[in-house]
Amino acid sequence: MEVKNVKAFGTASAEEEELKTLAIQRRTATAHDVEIEILYCGICHSDLHSARNEWHNTIYPIVPGHEIVGRVTNIGGHVKKFKVGDLAAVGCMVDSCRECEYCKEGLEQFCDPGNTLTFNSPDKYLGGQTYGGYSQSIVVDENYVLSVPENLDLAGTAPLLCAGITTYSPLRHWKVGPGSKVGVVGIGGLGHMGIKLAKAMGAHVVVFTTSVSKTEDAKRLGADEVVLSTDPDQMSKYAKSLNFILDCVSAQHNIDAYLNLLKVDGALALVGAPMEPLPVTSFSLILGRRSFAGSNIGGIAETQEMLDFCAAHNITSDIELIGVDQVNEAYERLLKGDVKYRFVIDMASLK
Ligand code: NAP
Ligand code: ZN
Ligand code: ZN
Repeated sequence: MEVKNVKAFGTASAEEEELKTLAIQRRTATAHDVEIEILYCGICHSDLHSARNEWHNTIYPIVPGHEIVGRVTNIGGHVKKFKVGDLAAVGCMVDSCRECEYCKEGLEQFCDPGNTLTFNSPDKYLGGQTYGGYSQSIVVDENYVLSVPENLDLAGTAPLLCAGITTYSPLRHWKVGPGSKVGVVGIGGLGHMGIKLAKAMGAHVVVFTTSVSKTEDAKRLGADEVVLSTDPDQMSKYAKSLNFILDCVSAQHNIDAYLNLLKVDGALALVGAPMEPLPVTSFSLILGRRSFAGSNIGGIAETQEMLDFCAAHNITSDIELIGVDQVNEAYERLLKGDVKYRFVIDMASLK
């Protein structure tokens, strides 16, 4: 198979603290492939979990990045959905089996034999692992490439490909809409999208943050009420008041404290993915017939639906645009919750 050398930004081993410029290879577009010049790539906390092997599954070298927008520079002979010059986007998945019950239902994120993630998955074309969006270009089967609405700011669109779909999908699954009282926990990349999307769906949104500095912003993002979660008095006022909670926290935290804010039959869906176990007290669930659930990104068709929903409601991410030379510092700031509200890399800085 023909390959191209491409510049990327990643890390060669778990011992290396810092990401740096790496040389990787991409296949040249085969019949169903779209080659995309990457313009912007968001920084998801999952990039940091993976680069530092916090989930104990990283194979090095790793090039993170799964919030990709760019322009099509080449297409394979059988590609129908895209032409050269189109805007295009890639999220967390670049392939799946397409045959299992979940793929057939458009739930590729739960593909039974396992999907191919944008980075750190076996690469069936070149061997080794897939490399993500902190790079000049990417080649992806057209069925896993999304169309980018023309009316949205491009850099602010990149985070929709993970933070957007990961919050949109559970809000839809648990039927959030007018009349719902929804809690969003943790205002980082995911949380701030959760606020905007839940509000656009018509819900009453209560935001829970550990950061005093984010309380004013939360209202600007669309929150109806903001609670400082470190203050037990503020927390107790919300006991048994919410229908649904979207938990976007990246670290160990007290789940019981949030379960107790749910009404009878309420559900808490975890999208945050800390490695540590999260203990739950039986009575937090039993006494309110409550559910403690989880959700993983979203399917390909649902991701396009989310992009179109964002286009219709003029929703993008609030971003801080950085160059690749600021990625390591951005990771340190993520660990402190110091993000308003998504770092996006201007990929032109890699040239
Ligand atoms: P992020 O931007 O770093 O935001 C995480 C937020 O969690 C912080 O801004 C902070 O919000 C809060 N937080 C952090 N440490 C905390 C602590 N010790 N106690 C309480 N709150 C804390 O991260 P992200 O990119 O949104 O990702 C969030 C999590 O979702 C990560 O674990 C990521 O891997 C995971 N994720 C899951 C999926 C999925 O499909 N399920 C997809 C993407 C990402 P406040 O300052 O407001 O408290
Ligand atoms: Zn992500
Ligand atoms: Zn499948």
